This record gives sequence, C-alpha cells and structure tokens, in this order.
Amino acid sequence: MPRKPSLASLSINAGAPLPENGRAFRHGPEFASTFHLSGDVDPNAYQYGRFGQPTWTSLEQGLAQLEGGDTIVFPSGMSAAAGILTSLLKPGDTILLPSDGYAPVRFYTEQYLVKFGVKLKTIPTQEIDNFDFSGIDLALLETPSNPMLDTFDIQGVAAKIHKSGGLLAIDNTTLTFLGQQPLALGADISMSADTKAVNGHSDVVFGHVACTSQALSDKIRQWRKFSGNIPGPMETWLVHRSLSTLDVRLQRMCDTAMLLAQALYEHPKVKSVRYPGLPNDPSYNIAKTQQQLFGFIISFELDSKRKADSFLKACSLVYEATSFGGVHSTAERRARWGTDNIAPGVVRFSVGCERADDLIYDVMQALKQL
Ligand SMILES: *Cc1c(COP(=O)(O)O)cnc(C)c1O
Repeated sequence: MPRKPSLASLSINAGAPLPENGRAFRHGPEFASTFHLSGDVDPNAYQYGRFGQPTWTSLEQGLAQLEGGDTIVFPSGMSAAAGILTSLLKPGDTILLPSDGYAPVRFYTEQYLVKFGVKLKTIPTQEIDNFDFSGIDLALLETPSNPMLDTFDIQGVAAKIHKSGGLLAIDNTTLTFLGQQPLALGADISMSADTKAVNGHSDVVFGHVACTSQALSDKIRQWRKFSGNIPGPMETWLVHRSLSTLDVRLQRMCDTAMLLAQALYEHPKVKSVRYPGLPNDPSYNIAKTQQQLFGFIISFELDSKRKADSFLKACSLVYEATSFGGVHSTAERRARWGTDNIAPGVVRFSVGCERADDLIYDVMQALKQL
C-alpha cells in the first residue's frame, strides 16, 4: 500500500515545482509591479503587483497544502489579523478576543474597529472551554496562549460557536501548522505570524491566513488588494525557503524545550514552570490530544524582577529579545512591557536550535549565579 507522506515531509518542497531534468530545484523571487496584459483583461493572468504575484502564489499553494485551506499571505502577522477582523466584521457584530493573548490584536480592535460599531468582548484563555458563545460573531483565539501557555479544546469550541452561528479563527503562531491543525479540528480560519517560527531566522516580518471556505478567503484576499497590505517578493521567497527547514528546526526546538522544562521544574530557584509537555501542567491533557508538538516556549517564574534580570544577563547562549521561534534561543522578562497581567519575575523563554546539552548547561549556570 502506498503510504501518504506526513505534512512534515511535504513541507520540504510544498508549493515548489517538482524537480525537472536540468532545472533548478527552486525558482527565485520574481520582482514585478506590472505584467504584460494585452486585449481584454484575463482574470487568470497576473495583472498588477498589488493584485497577485507569482512568488505569492507559490508560497500560498504550499501553505494551503499544509494548512488544509485556501491561504493568503500578508506582510506581517498583524496585517493577517487586521485582514481577518476588518474584512469579516460589520457594525453591531461582537468579536471575542483573549484577554491574555497577543495584545496588539486587542489594541487594533479597540482603536480602529470599535469606532465603527464593532463590540469587543475579552476572556481569559482558561475560561474559554466553559464560555457560552451565543452572541459572538467571530472569535479570534490562541491556544496555547502566549506567554502563559494555557490551552482550550478547539474542536469543542468550534462546535459551540458554529451552533450559535459564529466563526472561529485560531492564531496558531506558537505551534505552526506542523504543531497543530486548527482547520482539521473545526476552526474556520487559521492565522500565523510567520515572523516567528515559520520564517525562524529573525530576519523577516510576515504572516498568513488560511480558510476552510472560499467565501471567507475571497473576502480576506480582497481586503489585501484594496487596503494594499501586500508582502514584497523577496520576503515571500525568504519565508518559502525557510519552510523547507521548519520541521527539522521545530523537532530540535521542541525536544530541547521538553528537557529544559524538566530541568527548570526540578530546580529549587525556579518558583513555577509552564510548559504544555510537562505531565502535571494544566495544559497537558488538551495539548496531548490536539497538538502534534508541545512547542518551544517555556514560561517560568523567578523570585523577583531583579532575579529575572540577573538571570538573563548571566546567560551566554540566550539573547534578550522579544519575539520567539527563531534559531537563536531568546528570552525576556515579560512584565517589562506592562501589557500582560504577569508576575514581575516571569521569564518567557523561546528555545532555539542550539545543542540541548549546551543550552541546558548555560541556563543552569545562570541560575546558579542568582
Ligand atoms: C508576533 C505575533 C503576532 C503579530 O505578528 P507580527 O508579524 O509581529 O505583526 C500575532 N500573534 C501572535 C501570537 C504573535 O506572537
């Protein structure tokens, strides 16, 4: 029996042409604002660079295969989120966002959508499984949440929200489509800030949206065309190139994260650890059933702001930075932004592609200095 390859193996060449004798494995980015267009307008031809470009098409076809739905690329994760919200909500609609999720999505809604009559409700991720979704037109939720890594049951929530006529969108940035498949679990929309793990090299800002229904993706694609939120061909090509190594990077990052989370959990100077792969973590049961990976983000608490800052300074392989999902391990004292309701000693740690023994040694020697 021929066996269907996994999405992980398909991701190596997804959206790229099949190898042909004498031809390059990969096509380069195509730089064009205008395309030759003669006679009547051919709707299937490229016309103008804001409407469609071949470099987008290749990446969108690859991502569509991996997400399981029509995909639209964007110049950032925020433009992907803005595209979903602005194109699908109308005056009087109610949007549900997590109170502990990515804060700029709430700020965008408060500043630019509420004034046009959209109503905003927020909810802590821990309460989503027991929430009554009647009256919610669109929920844009994150599981695991970032930075505290709470989870909810996507399948259960999708069933509830569909019953009352609403739509479910999942911000899948923290796991990517190789770590969790929101569309297969019943969500209508999956979005990702590809700035993080999908590109993974800390050199491109990018995003995408995937939809189960063509009616939804048509609206979002049209918003991109008329708002002009378009990615350049070079960034698009870099993300597509990075896609080939996403699986191998994620495997290394998540394996190391598991080992590091265990070492932190056992450490006397660490007050508490959140990692969905630890069997006693509140997120473990859901993560085990709906995720393919436990992820590469760990949040842990030290005694104080001063201890957290000293820890970060004492690491040599871990760079202090916001953002996550890159090949370099990065960490930050999350409360420094003042946007999340988080204890002052909490460190959000994004495990990179260093060797596990080197990274764990580095973190343990930094803790020893506290
Ligand atoms: C980073 C991030 C975004 C926004 O992505 P940008 O590319 O920075 O615009 C959205 N959602 C989550 C969960 C993120 O981590």
